[in-house]
Amino acid sequence: MSTQTRVDRAARMTALLPDAGVDAFLITDLINLRYLTGFVGTNGLAVIGPDTRTFATDSRYTEQAAMQVDGSFERHELPRDTVSAIDELLPSGELRLGFETSLPFRIHTRLLGVLPDRVELVPIDSLVEGLRAIKEPAEIERMREASALADSALEQLLGQGLVGRTERDAALELELAMRKQGAERPSFEPIVAAGAHGALPHADPRDVEIERGQLVVIDFGAQLEGYCSDCTRTFATGDPGAEAKEIYRIVLEAQLTALNAVRAGAGLQEVDSAAREAITAAGHGEHFRHGLGHGVGLDIHEDPRLTPSAEGELEAHNTVTIEPGIYLPGQFGVRIEDLLAVTTDGGEVLTGISKQLTVVD
Ligand code: ZN
Ligand code: ZN
Repeated sequence: MSTQTRVDRAARMTALLPDAGVDAFLITDLINLRYLTGFVGTNGLAVIGPDTRTFATDSRYTEQAAMQVDGSFERHELPRDTVSAIDELLPSGELRLGFETSLPFRIHTRLLGVLPDRVELVPIDSLVEGLRAIKEPAEIERMREASALADSALEQLLGQGLVGRTERDAALELELAMRKQGAERPSFEPIVAAGAHGALPHADPRDVEIERGQLVVIDFGAQLEGYCSDCTRTFATGDPGAEAKEIYRIVLEAQLTALNAVRAGAGLQEVDSAAREAITAAGHGEHFRHGLGHGVGLDIHEDPRLTPSAEGELEAHNTVTIEPGIYLPGQFGVRIEDLLAVTTDGGEVLTGISKQLTVVD
């Protein structure tokens, strides 16, 4: 990302500070920190205000910060317990300093102990997260590339077959293929879940062989320059039977219905219910027990959330998943997930793998 991008992001954030009632904002969340400064490490903080752009990390990361942190920031090296010396990063005078509500309680307590009386701490919820939810063209491009890379890794795995290998082996193979093709890492540990195990939406791959005639849920993604992809497909290893095929048809129809409902201005709840109503009408409402989708970016789960209780609307350049599922306990599960970039009149699907029920040996 260019300096201009970082400067623009900091400017967008600074413009929100008066309404939030603060003079400057303390960033400690590592993903927000990466988004705003470019720093990728495990310990750092930044203070951003109209005339302040300071960054600090400890001596382990000084060298790395010199390479990663955007030149628009003034860099400081602080002790490992960075907040202990935070005073040197702050603008002078009376200061209302915002902090992220995700700040650990331990750090908050520490801050209260070390900050001078002139500084008042003010909790602010989801300020940077709100900016992150609207992607720049370059961010969408990274996610498009991450999706294409993940697609190609999955095709490689499918080419080697699923039957007779364990879920764990298939998941490892998929992860290896993504890394070999250039992913920094998987977006999350891939899920490969066959038969009844697929009825657990967040199944951990087991040392159990995939058999013929099962449904296999594969949920995976690649991370590229920090940006994640996210995709789920459900495959059949031979004929899975009439009921499984019928459930697959219902989930696919619900997924396509929800995809059609996506556009800037559509209610988050409204898009969720497009899929939920289709599944409920088919008699399986109780078997779809998670939200329809979530935002994706530097984090695998971020704003906006498409759930039955979500408030707000989709906006152009949100990147969200649409992932309905039906899970029949003790039998099997079906989930179909695409990642898409929201546009003014619809959405651009970034995932490319076919959604027809595909038989893989
Ligand atoms: Zn997923
Ligand atoms: Zn997802």
